[in-house]
Parts: sequence; structure tokens; C-alpha cells
Amino acid sequence: MTFGGPDVNIANFVVIAGVSTVQARNFAVNNTSSLPDLFMKNLTVTDQKQFPDHMRPLGTATFRFLCHAGVGCFTRCCRQLELYLYPYDILRLKKRLGISSEEFLNRYTGVVKGSNPCFPSVIMVMNDNAEKTCPFLGEGGCTVYADRPSACRTYPLERAVDRTPAAGADREFYFLTNHDYCLGHGEAKEWTVKEWVRDQNLQMFNQMDDLWAELDTLFADPATWRGEGSAGPRQLLAFMVCYNVDRFRQYLNDQRLLEQFRLDKSRRRLIERDDEALLLFGFDWLKHLLAGKPTLQPKS
Ligand code: SF4
Ligand code: SF4
Repeated sequence: MTFGGPDVNIANFVVIAGVSTVQARNFAVNNTSSLPDLFMKNLTVTDQKQFPDHMRPLGTATFRFLCHAGVGCFTRCCRQLELYLYPYDILRLKKRLGISSEEFLNRYTGVVKGSNPCFPSVIMVMNDNAEKTCPFLGEGGCTVYADRPSACRTYPLERAVDRTPAAGADREFYFLTNHDYCLGHGEAKEWTVKEWVRDQNLQMFNQMDDLWAELDTLFADPATWRGEGSAGPRQLLAFMVCYNVDRFRQYLNDQRLLEQFRLDKSRRRLIERDDEALLLFGFDWLKHLLAGKPTLQPKS
């Protein structure tokens, strides 16, 4: 069985050329040693957490920003992007477009080697035109605005989640980015992080992205793949569960997967009809399958 689909080939993941502008994106900080070397110089200590000098968490401070059709740079940021897509982004976009997850992957994405040393990342492929515009950029701006990816809605902020066990509960930090071309920073409107998160409907994206980040950490451990190497059966399975939710539903039904675990009726019914619930089940199943975590209880 081909888990990734005929054209979604994770065996040959490559860095796509021509994506030099880095868009703001969520990232998880498991511990400071996981930050790239570049970031380890000139650390700032904030609330016992270390960050590079140029990354000062906003905390409760306000920032000025407004993006609207009247700014001179309108849509300037929707081109030449290195726009990483997370599982929940793909789910929202494929629903928005009314196509299957497999069709979405084939039409709009590429599989690349990102920051995870053992598992590929998915990136939006820009249009093949002089400006390398995002495929969802229209004359009036973003054509998928209500379902735009988390990186687009988080901008101009970046979010980091500290999952250091010693810190107890997860802690999130937000940082303000500042690209020279972005004139939104010159607008008068002031926001707190809390107001921005609410205004951009980020809560659900953050919840789903945090669960994905846990899995991504598991995927970064070579032991997870039991020596199969890249694009082995376990990686193909994991890729399908995370990114190709419609193919996963077919697999779940073919393999009668739900019947193998103790699930209360309401959750089971939700998984059967709802893609978000299916994705959450998939995350639990992968943790159970790949790392033996007690996220699901098998029937004896
Ligand atoms: S203000 Fe910034 S975010 Fe808005 S369109 Fe301009 S560059 Fe993009
Ligand atoms: S998805 Fe929308 S907001 Fe994001 S880069 Fe594309 S056009 Fe811009």
C-alpha cells in the first residue's frame, strides 16, 4: 500500500528553490539547546528563560500594527514565501477549497527537508510567475482569508512554546517581527498579544499546532523509525495520518482501526464524521503506535 498517495512522494524531499523570504511562523522551543546556533549568541534572560537579544518576548506589552487594503505594501508579504504548512493548516485549506487532502497536497504543496532532521516538512509552493506569488493571492488580497494558515494569521508576531519539563505547564511567548517592507508597523492601532490572538482566531490553530509540535519532537528522534530510514513504512504512515486526512479516513475504515481501541461512543461518532476529531485521534494513534504512549487503550 502507498500511504502518501501516488504523487505525494516523501522519498525525495528537497529544498524548493526561490523561497528566500522567511515568513513568520510558529515554532516550539523544547529547551534552549534546540535553538539554532545562530540564535544561541547574545542571549537575553527573561523570566528565567533565555532568548537571543533580538527576540524579546512581548509579555503584556502592546505593539502597533494594522494591515489593511490601504497600506502601500498591501499583499507585498504574500509572495516569495517559505511558508510551512502544519497538519491543521492543510485540513482547513482543503475544506475551504472543497477538495481532498490528497488533491491539496498534489496541487499546492511540496515536501521539503525542514528543521526536523528525520521527518519531512510540507511547504506551500508559490506560483511560477516573476513575483512568485502565493497561489491564494487574489486581486483583493487573500482568497482564503478565514482559513489562512497559522503563520499568516500570527504575523507580525512569532510564537514559541516552552515545553521544558522543569517549567511545569507549557509556556508560550510571542515576539514581534519587523520586516522593513511592512508598513503595518507604522499604523496607530495598538494591540496586546491577547487581543491579537483573539482577533486573528488563533486559539484553535495554536492548540492543534502544539499537539503537532509534540509529534514533531517524537519524529525528530531517530529511534522512532526503528532503523527504517526516510520514507520507510512508518514514515509513510505518519505522513499520511498528519497531512492526508482523507486518505487516513479510508485507511481507518479499511483497517477497522476504531474497533481496536476503547473509545467512548461520543468520541467515536465524532471521529467518524469530523476531520478535526480524526486528526486528533491520528495524533494519539501515532504516539501509541510509534512510542508506546498510553494515549489510547487497546481492547484486550
Ligand atoms: S502591512 Fe505588512 S502584513 Fe499587511 S500587507 Fe503590508 S507587508 Fe503584508
Ligand atoms: S494564504 Fe493568504 S495570507 Fe497567506 S500568503 Fe497566501 S495569500 Fe497571503
